[in-house]
Amino acid sequence: MLDVIVPAAGSGKRMGQKTPKQYLKLDDRTILEHTLEALLKCPEVGTIIVALASCDHYFETLRLSSCERIRTVTGGKERSDSVCAALELVTTPYVLVHDAARPFLKTDDVERLIARCLEEKACGGILCAASTDTLKLEDKDSLRIEKTLPRAQIFKALTPQLFNTKLLRQALNYVRDKSLLITDDAQALEVLGYHPLLVLGDAHNFKITTPSDLQLARAIIAYQATGADGS
Ligand code: C5P
Repeated sequence: MLDVIVPAAGSGKRMGQKTPKQYLKLDDRTILEHTLEALLKCPEVGTIIVALASCDHYFETLRLSSCERIRTVTGGKERSDSVCAALELVTTPYVLVHDAARPFLKTDDVERLIARCLEEKACGGILCAASTDTLKLEDKDSLRIEKTLPRAQIFKALTPQLFNTKLLRQALNYVRDKSLLITDDAQALEVLGYHPLLVLGDAHNFKITTPSDLQLARAIIAYQATGADGS
């Protein structure tokens, strides 16, 4: 069993709502509740440590706040600070980190990620999705295309991401000491010269960031509720 960190201390600025995005409802439950329920269903998941904003007054109102497998810590200014704070409570040699705003996590994906990382004795590994769009790198001065990135080698980083706990602590401390801004945890290991595994996951496991993501997520939940998708 592995401990899981769920950073949920963000304000969700890009959603443009007063309520932080993880507390917006998809049906009668919030995004965070869907995410936590998906994690609790995974047989490999032990304790879940949720990082909350210091001013959070929403979490305690959730039914799951009394779940004995869930603990909370106060997060920090950046996502990496929130993960660092939660790492203090991790007791397992490997740890998973999963965004609060990814409610469509499949148990199979978690199992495949863990199995691949253990098989390959990897320092870490992340779920990812192939890029279906062609991606352009912008020339930062001219707002024109500098070049096209080779699509076959481009993957979107998803979560969960799995790491050796000691190594993740070391990497995040390094990033903090050097004041580097990172956007996922794998990047902290990359900065130290490590190469976590890429493990293909289900593309439905997207992060709800914008109002159109929220609309899509609500449509998926409504469709699932009809039972038409076999779930
Ligand atoms: O901003 P972004 O969508 O990349 O955030 C990803 C996850 O990190 C979200 O679940 C968010 O709540 C969390 N986060 C955090 N602490 C911060 C900023 C973001 O826990 N300071």
